[in-house]
Amino acid sequence: MEEKTENGFSEQQMRRRRVNKMKMSILTGAGVWIIILSVLMVAMFVKLVFLENKLERLEESIISVQRVVEEQKKAAGSSQEGEKESISDSDAAAGSVAQEDGQAGNMPVETEQSRKVYLTFDDGPSENTSKILDILKERNIKATFFVVGFDDEASRELYQRIVAEGHTLGMHSYSHKYDMIYQSLDAFKEDMSHLQAYLEEVTGVTPTIMRFPGGSSNQVSNVDMKELIRYVEGEGLTYFDWNIESGDATSQAYTSDELVQNVMTEVVKYDTSVVLMHDTSAKAATVEALVPMIDQLQEIGAELLPIDETTKLIQHIPVDSVE
Ligand SMILES: [Zn+2]
Repeated sequence: MEEKTENGFSEQQMRRRRVNKMKMSILTGAGVWIIILSVLMVAMFVKLVFLENKLERLEESIISVQRVVEEQKKAAGSSQEGEKESISDSDAAAGSVAQEDGQAGNMPVETEQSRKVYLTFDDGPSENTSKILDILKERNIKATFFVVGFDDEASRELYQRIVAEGHTLGMHSYSHKYDMIYQSLDAFKEDMSHLQAYLEEVTGVTPTIMRFPGGSSNQVSNVDMKELIRYVEGEGLTYFDWNIESGDATSQAYTSDELVQNVMTEVVKYDTSVVLMHDTSAKAATVEALVPMIDQLQEIGAELLPIDETTKLIQHIPVDSVE
């Protein structure tokens, strides 16, 4: 009787052990599967993110190709309007001449990948504009001026000189008063179309490149910037922000050497750099910095170019992120 119970007991124990063993192997198997599936899921997720990024880049390049095609179509379409055609021709010519000049002037000794640098001057014209233009002319370099509206004779001549010397005349806003232009979409429209019509009247060229005051990422606009972006897109305008700040707008009063240094340490990070500088009478250091900045940029083989419709978009809020 006792033996029987003992036998029964050990059999029960054995069975329990077997069951435990089976449970363990099932659990281990399931565990292994869970690990394999998790690894697969992570791998697929990484792949998905990679593909999404790739798609984004493709979309970007499609959009820029479309933009160029549209521009060409526009140029071809306006052939009946003699004046306009000659303007867009001279624009294109100025652009290509600038590119050739840039390449010839740079002569990179080491054949590193081409580095494009776009010098941009905001808020002019000012007492410094002619000094800036003199330096650029002497160095045979084209740049971009994002101007505001002044109706005095000296300013009118400066707008004309910017265009005549092959630089890009970009729009920045007529008043540059944040509380006015960013009050409503209508206020913004009125300011921008006023500036465009004014510059067209003074120079004969209709500007299509612009920069939002404070940049597209400004935090002061009353209106959603995406709404303003949709508007400028609809008007056929292309806006540019910047990826390099010289620092001449900060409260810290940089010396010209420091401004050059600020630009040079950043410029090596990008294949396309849009450099933010200011053309106002208070910014003497900017004018002073210009010659050494150009020298040092050319030393590293950078091409110095004016912004045009083919320039890689540098935008804080990318236009293709706005539906
Ligand atoms: Zn500004």
